[in-house]
Amino acid sequence: MSKPVVAIVGRPNVGKSTIFNRIVGERISIVEDIPGITRDRLYSSADWLTHEFNIIDTGGIEIGDEPFLEQIRQQAEIAIQEADVIIFLTNGREGVTAADEQVAKILYKTKKPVVLAINKIDNPDMRSMIYDFYSLGFGEPFPISGSHGLGLGDLLDEVAKNFPEQDEEEYPENVIKFSLIGRPNVGKSSLVNSFLGDERVIVSEIAGTTRDAIDTQYEYDDQPYVIIDTAGMRKKGKVYETTEKYSVLRALRAIERSDVVLVVLNAEEGIQEQDKKIAGYAHEAGKAVIIVVNKWDAVEKDEKTMNKTTKMIREHFLFLDYAPIIFVSAKTNQRVHSILPIINRVSENHAMRVTSSVLNEVIEDSVARNPAPTDKGRRLRIYYATQVAIKPPTFVVFVNEPEIMHFSYERFLENRIRESFDFEGTPIRLITRART
Ligand code: GDP
Ligand code: GDP
Repeated sequence: MSKPVVAIVGRPNVGKSTIFNRIVGERISIVEDIPGITRDRLYSSADWLTHEFNIIDTGGIEIGDEPFLEQIRQQAEIAIQEADVIIFLTNGREGVTAADEQVAKILYKTKKPVVLAINKIDNPDMRSMIYDFYSLGFGEPFPISGSHGLGLGDLLDEVAKNFPEQDEEEYPENVIKFSLIGRPNVGKSSLVNSFLGDERVIVSEIAGTTRDAIDTQYEYDDQPYVIIDTAGMRKKGKVYETTEKYSVLRALRAIERSDVVLVVLNAEEGIQEQDKKIAGYAHEAGKAVIIVVNKWDAVEKDEKTMNKTTKMIREHFLFLDYAPIIFVSAKTNQRVHSILPIINRVSENHAMRVTSSVLNEVIEDSVARNPAPTDKGRRLRIYYATQVAIKPPTFVVFVNEPEIMHFSYERFLENRIRESFDFEGTPIRLITRART
């Protein structure tokens, strides 16, 4: 089930990133806690009342050296393409400008709901400034103030009213959904071709899903698979489609709809910041992850190269210590056939349930080896643990006082759980709760 996507569009300086940060709230700082990942403040999950959604600040997508108006135009097109609801943001202090009208003109082309917000209305006396904006043709303008956090509730109510009906789950339960993500040119579409080129693969159709015809469904050894967003990997038409940030955006949506994410690296180019960002999103989203080092044919190597590269990858992707690494070549098909068995394995681990009795034995044994932390003379007492969810496996540990639980002790327990069960390829989550 994918969450609705909200995009903010508008010319520069109207307050898009201010509003984005307001709506996203404290989440960004949580996300930045993952060591080794710097973050684009461009795309984030958010919630309002009972609604969960994703939000994009299209202003953060800079498109090459395109002139100013062309930039705004393409950002608006991205919003139309990617969003379910669009927030069209303007500046109430400046009135309707020619650039606002340009944005409006592009947004007229979409059937998607557009909610018009007038920013910088910092106090009630300024509300009369919003009437001009009816002329843009998007109905009632919502006055807001990003700096003061005013009017956002009404705006988000209106946005949420326009969310589409939740899609039914797109594919049957037994289907393994996976995606290939990575920078442009690492070889994602070549790998897809290599998968599908195997004569035992039965491609059922290029599925017309509820969104676009973007996925590929196929079967291998009676196991059904869906490659998520195949179109996004192959299509490189519009100017913005070749920009790195747009490819990240596309990747994020693909990650969300997947069970397993193949993070594809280019063996020739080493690891770049962008690789880490994308992989970081897969980790945060709680997906099973496999690191695929492609173009292995193009690397000059001796018997140590694979070990050295593995070590280098582990150092760069500390947060993905659970992800298997495989070295392949889409060009020569070397080891491409061994990717599917790994997908099967990590997908199984991602959905694994462990019994409470064995889990609690592991916890008890862990506490015996490494006593729980103390704080101001009080000791953490762990009563019991239980698995509350799969995909990813999520455990709740009930304790006397959650404040005494220390991050490092949580990591210790997590590692112990990992050592005791086979969770290769999947993140696991641990939540500490007070026993009531
Ligand atoms: P963006 O280019 O559309 O992302 O705009 P920014 O979010 O960077 O904001 C542009 C400028 O407007 C910054 O100096 C903000 O502090 C300011 N700004 C944003 N929201 C408001 C607001 O509600 N009231 C006022 N007075 N200034 C604001
Ligand atoms: P994408 O943008 O990630 O989908 O990358 P493509 O699949 O379009 O590949 C980009 C370029 O790398 C193309 O010229 C491919 O022929 C080339 N390429 C892809 N896989 C390999 C590989 O395993 N080895 C070599 N030498 N080149 C590859």
